[in-house]
Amino acid sequence: MADDKIESVKSLFTAKSAKVETNKGEKYYENLYAQCRERLDNLKKIVPVSNNIKIKEAIEEEGVSRRDFLKWASATTAMLMLPASFTPLVAEAATLMNRVPVVWIELQDCAGNSEALLRSDGPTVDEIILDIISLEFHETLMAAAGHQAEKQLEDAVETFKGKYLLFVEGSVPMGLNGQYGTLGAKGETFIDHLHRVAKDAAAIVAVGSCATFGGIPAAAPNPTDAKGVMDVVNGKTIVNIPACPANPSNMVGVILHYVLTGQLPELDSLLRPKFAFGYRIHDNCERRAHFDAGEYVEEWGDEGAKNNFCLYKMGCKGPMTFNNCSIVRYNEGVNWPVGVGRGCIGCSEPDFWDKYAYERPMANANIKAPTGGVEKTVDQFGLGLLTAAGIGIGIHAAASAVAGKKDKGEA
Ligand code: SF4
Ligand code: SF4
Repeated sequence: MADDKIESVKSLFTAKSAKVETNKGEKYYENLYAQCRERLDNLKKIVPVSNNIKIKEAIEEEGVSRRDFLKWASATTAMLMLPASFTPLVAEAATLMNRVPVVWIELQDCAGNSEALLRSDGPTVDEIILDIISLEFHETLMAAAGHQAEKQLEDAVETFKGKYLLFVEGSVPMGLNGQYGTLGAKGETFIDHLHRVAKDAAAIVAVGSCATFGGIPAAAPNPTDAKGVMDVVNGKTIVNIPACPANPSNMVGVILHYVLTGQLPELDSLLRPKFAFGYRIHDNCERRAHFDAGEYVEEWGDEGAKNNFCLYKMGCKGPMTFNNCSIVRYNEGVNWPVGVGRGCIGCSEPDFWDKYAYERPMANANIKAPTGGVEKTVDQFGLGLLTAAGIGIGIHAAASAVAGKKDKGEA
């Protein structure tokens, strides 16, 4: 794209996270609708940056019907917490996803989030959309290697200066002056690499538990002094999409929100989009009725397990974990960990490996009474604070611990 053209559309790419409006009345949505309409009209005038795949063709090729696409648009509108009247706009925004350049870098990681992005066996609309975004650089997916790859990154950063969304996968090893992670012939440290590519990004999207909060590399004793992107980069708008791996629906949701509104979605205090991390797994879990009825799996393979009882006593951390995987699910929406009988290990929370990834209930959870009502986001009560149900958990867990001691004749 010519330089002057890029300059002229730069104003469409100044990413800030959306202002938190607590009282969103009819007027607010009328204004937002008008803004989105204008933005989409402007985006339509821009030639796709490099990826010319049309969503209509991609969807037909994958055998997704128009009806299914509209169903997806309607579900995505609801997921983004927008009124149903925005559905046609969301469908239209999906066709314009290739107007936003994306640069994707990997640091200290297992590439699990790239795997999630890649999965192509019967792809959902979300995955098709991820195929049509303008992925200007992704070292794992692209054909170029070595000097060619480095040149491609330099070109992308220069060409789309100030416009690209930078997706970062993996933690940043800060130990030994960054020598635990280097790349390229010049041995650039991951720290310098991140700073260099982040400098001209419109915004940064940290994807997966490692890029957001350090993840497993940061688990004790954290030999490389691994950190999440937000602890390393200052002065940029950062969105965190944690989980191991991050759900493709949430990646699409963030890009789509940006394409549609020109803003990144509302974030919680951990910089996670509220549309995806605004409620607890526990509140949308299909085993919740069993939790409320006090029906638990007591050991693997018992009658409770056969009857899909609650996994809390087997260490499920759903009550402490904010994520939408109990709604959106994984593998084309087929299932999710708790659905197949494995308790949640809190992978979307900071320090999850040390704090939550063990098969016991949290008898010593920092449980406090709520100030009233049911919590809606992690911000309202703070991390690890639970509702009245949580108090029940605490009592239950303590009782379990005592019962366990009794069984061993220690109490
Ligand atoms: S404790 Fe786990 S299995 Fe039980 S209801 Fe909550 S999220 Fe579901
Ligand atoms: S159930 Fe828990 S551990 Fe599993 S993906 Fe969801 S948040 Fe992560």
